[in-house]
Amino acid sequence: MPYCLCMNCGAEKDNVFAPCGNCEHSLKNMHEVAYALGLSERYTQRQELDEFRAQIRRGEAPKFGARKWQKLVTAAQGTKADEILELEDGPAAGVAKPTSLLGLLFGKK
Ligand SMILES: [Zn+2]
Repeated sequence: MPYCLCMNCGAEKDNVFAPCGNCEHSLKNMHEVAYALGLSERYTQRQELDEFRAQIRRGEAPKFGARKWQKLVTAAQGTKADEILELEDGPAAGVAKPTSLLGLLFGKK
């Protein structure tokens, strides 16, 4: 199961696109999608994520290098996150499906 962090509170989530179970933060735009991908184990080593979590809990925002950020933005644009996030405004079922989209995304690297 992929490991990722809520960008708002640092809580562990099992899906980048899912609202946080702790603070209910959900992704609002492509910038946040790219950021959320960077806070996932798919793109960032677990050790670094632990450091990011500590930063978030101190009220600091983890920073990505320019090259990595470009990669994350490109990845975010490939997720069709705008469609997924539109669904989040509707019934809760809208967020139950992104697993297969993630598989598509990460499968093609
Ligand atoms: Zn949270």
